[in-house]
Amino acid sequence: MSKYEIVIGMEVHAELLTESKQFCGCANVAVAPPNTHVCPVCLGFPGSLPVLNEKSVELSLRTVLAFDSKINKHTIFERKNYFYPDLPKAYQISQRLFTLGEGGCVEIDVAGQDGQVQTKRVGLSDVHMEEDTGKSQHGEAIGDPDSSLVDFNRAGIPLLEIVSAPDMRSIEEAESYMATLRQVLLYLEVSDCKMELGRLRFEASVSLRPFGQEEYGTRVEVKNLNSMKAVRDSLRAEIERQTKILDSGGKVQQQTMLWDEASGTTQPMRSKEQAHDYRYFPEPDLVPIEIDNAWLDRVRAAMPELPRARRQRFQTDYGLSAYDAEILTSTRDIASYYEAALENYNNPKTISNWVANELLGRLNAENKDIIASPVRPTQLRDLVKLIDDGTISGKIAKEVFDEMFMEGRDAILIVREKGLGQISDTSEIEAICQRVIEANPKAVEDYKGGKERSFAALVGGVMKETRGRANPALVNELLKKQLS
Ligand SMILES: [Zn+2]
Repeated sequence: MSKYEIVIGMEVHAELLTESKQFCGCANVAVAPPNTHVCPVCLGFPGSLPVLNEKSVELSLRTVLAFDSKINKHTIFERKNYFYPDLPKAYQISQRLFTLGEGGCVEIDVAGQDGQVQTKRVGLSDVHMEEDTGKSQHGEAIGDPDSSLVDFNRAGIPLLEIVSAPDMRSIEEAESYMATLRQVLLYLEVSDCKMELGRLRFEASVSLRPFGQEEYGTRVEVKNLNSMKAVRDSLRAEIERQTKILDSGGKVQQQTMLWDEASGTTQPMRSKEQAHDYRYFPEPDLVPIEIDNAWLDRVRAAMPELPRARRQRFQTDYGLSAYDAEILTSTRDIASYYEAALENYNNPKTISNWVANELLGRLNAENKDIIASPVRPTQLRDLVKLIDDGTISGKIAKEVFDEMFMEGRDAILIVREKGLGQISDTSEIEAICQRVIEANPKAVEDYKGGKERSFAALVGGVMKETRGRANPALVNELLKKQLS
């Protein structure tokens, strides 16, 4: 057990799901040939003027509302000045004094000491709007060790920055925070959150302090985190590094570190890149944003039910376990699929099993999204109906489902075509039982001698003869009758 308490804060950058960039008409796309979505505005040509994308404000407001932040109804943009080759204007339009949202919190689930799931609130310091920068590539990445190239397609894409308070106390909490935040942003359709494309990016700040000490230790920022795994691994490495320094009586330096995936270590950024003198001042080319109640009401009305609320409702309305509810609300599309399958048919538990186990299992195996499911919700419901009314057994249903998944056809057609319907005709089953009894004198003798297990062998014989189609309850009943 370490003697230091871990303190983690997170900054999250999410590129917003708008059609065009923040201040010009260029398309907001993640993948395109370099410098094909650029114009005088996002390239910062002299004399060009920015015009605010209204949709980006709406998406930002959705986020602010979802996390209960206080909304600044009168807000402005500011210029954050710094020089870097991928920043054509030599300033980034951002917010600092009057950020769109202030405060608020993200509720995360963490395992308590007793192993039970507990809810923890991670405070937010602010949520603000800004624009993304271009992207530079250097040396070997572009096949020339002496060159750098810059792509401005990303310059000016609307960006939302969500800054947390240093409220996380373990790597697990940081992971839960990231997963929760990502899930909410996806539910809100604010961002597609594709980390592999840099559409969602995390930066962590981490410090250690002896347990019981109120004052925070010196914090170190960790950047260059391109995946959840990178965040986890870099935090682990940085905590280890700081622990060693403190254990040997040293002092942690306040600095920015870059995660180096190859060596599995955090490395200090060159000090020149750390100079923080941004000289913010109000952006004179953009008018202040005034958010009135009518606008807020419109945004509120378009808000979807959020994952936590939906999870809760699935438990109370459909009697699902916490575990099932979590799986079925993991994405908005899965939750909507499930509820569409439930429409006009009240068997939430069985349908939840089919969606969570059979359908999601097969979709995952084929790396498919539920939107691309070959089996529609109504088709899945009709399959469950066939089980419930005794037309097919649960075992046969899996066979039918395989075909539905491959061909997208209705269950009833497959059942008819292949003669898979359950046999519930007493005389037919009686005849088969008779044959099985005659063919297995040894099992019959053992059963009569008290060996219960031999009865199962006889049931298995009947099932085999009917290729699993005989009604199991009826087989049990009729076999027992014949054997007595
Ligand atoms: Zn542009």
